[in-house]
This record gives sequence, structure tokens and C-alpha cells, in this order.
Amino acid sequence: MNDADHAAARRELVNALGRRLDVSERTLSAIGAVPRHEFVPEPHSASAYDDRPLPIGHDQTVSAPHMVALMSDLLDVERGDRVFEVGTGCGYHAAVVAEVVGPGNVFSAERVPELAADARERLDRLGYDVTVAAGDGREAFSDEAPFDAAYLTCAAPDSVPDAIVDRVRPGGRVVAPVREGSGQRLVRLTVREDGVDREDHGGVRFVPMR
Ligand code: SAH
Repeated sequence: MNDADHAAARRELVNALGRRLDVSERTLSAIGAVPRHEFVPEPHSASAYDDRPLPIGHDQTVSAPHMVALMSDLLDVERGDRVFEVGTGCGYHAAVVAEVVGPGNVFSAERVPELAADARERLDRLGYDVTVAAGDGREAFSDEAPFDAAYLTCAAPDSVPDAIVDRVRPGGRVVAPVREGSGQRLVRLTVREDGVDREDHGGVRFVPMR
């Protein structure tokens, strides 16, 4: 596939997502701007604009585009907001959020050092000013808090760790898959001075947080 083919496939994906999902134009245009084929390993780049998760090595996957769109939309961020991601993976989701909030505003932690290094190089090459830290999301970027929003791309056990919720300002949001029974739910927390409000956004399947 050449660049024109990728661009056409990406437009088709965005149109399909727009028909299927109740997400903002801002979110759709972010999906339309990010070259997902540059983020997935070579054997999968031809499938980059199929709406499905793809392997990125180290037993990890990049989420399907509809899930990235839905989660980015739930973050409800705008240009200038500062966002904390746990689970950089290949860097695709971070790039989508960076399209919305602008350069220098996304901070992402990845516990697999090789994935962190590759994502940093790739984001840099593609012109995304995203700060990537190798390490556990529960420990990274405490000096950059408070954030306007945070999200996890790996499933939290039972509830989102306090260390992550505490990094978000009151009124800010946390979007995360959370384990519940034998499955997982996608939740959005709105941080309050005295706790959090919790909304459920349906069943999901993510790799577990380590
Ligand atoms: N957003 C990614 C999705 C990657 S899958 C993308 O666009 O590709 C989830 C990632 O979370 C994996 O790379 C996994 O290594 C990472 N992860 C799991 N537990 C973590 C933790 N405690 N801290 C940081 N990253 C973690």
C-alpha cells in the first residue's frame, strides 16, 4: 500500500466510525490525522485501518480505532489540556490525544522499556511532542501533576490506583478499563474534592496492568 492508499483507507475508517459512534468531530478528525500504519509492526500495516486491535510485540496490542475514539472522546479534553496516559504501547493512542490537546501536553508511561524506546522514537519522527517515560504508571510523572485528565490502556485491578487518580485535578477525568468479576468495564471517573463520580461505559477487553 502506498501513502494515497493509506490515506483513502483512513478516510473510509473515519467515515465508518462517524456513522457508528456518538463521538465529537474533534475526536474523529484526530483519528483522521494520525497515520496508524506507521505505529503497527510491518506485517500488520496493511490492516492498520481495519477497526480491530493489532499486535505490537511483547504480547501487547494496540486497541481498535473505535475504542481509541471512544476513550479519547470520554476524556473530554481540549487544546492546552494536559493528559497523563498509562500504557504507551506503540504510541498511537497518545498521538490521537496529542492531536486534540497539542504539543507538549501528553505524558505517557510504559513499563516495557523496548516499547517505550520505540514509541518515543516513532512519535518524535512523526512530529508528535509527547513525553514518554519507561516505568510503572503508578510512579511516573508525579512531578508533572496535576493533569486535566488521565487514562489507562491496560486494565486496572478492581479500581483505578489512587496514585493515578490523585494526579488529576478536581473536575478532571480518568478513563480506564477496570476488572470486574471475570470481565472488565470501561469507566469514567470525574475527580471531586472528596472522592470521584463513576460512570460505566460498557464491557471491554484490555491487557492487564502489571
Ligand atoms: N495505548 C497503547 C496500547 C498499548 S497496550 C497503544 O496505542 O498502542 C497497554 C500497554 O500498557 C502495554 O504496552 C503494557 O506494557 C502497558 N502497561 C501495563 N501495565 C503498565 C503499568 N503498570 N505502567 C505502565 N504501562 C503499563
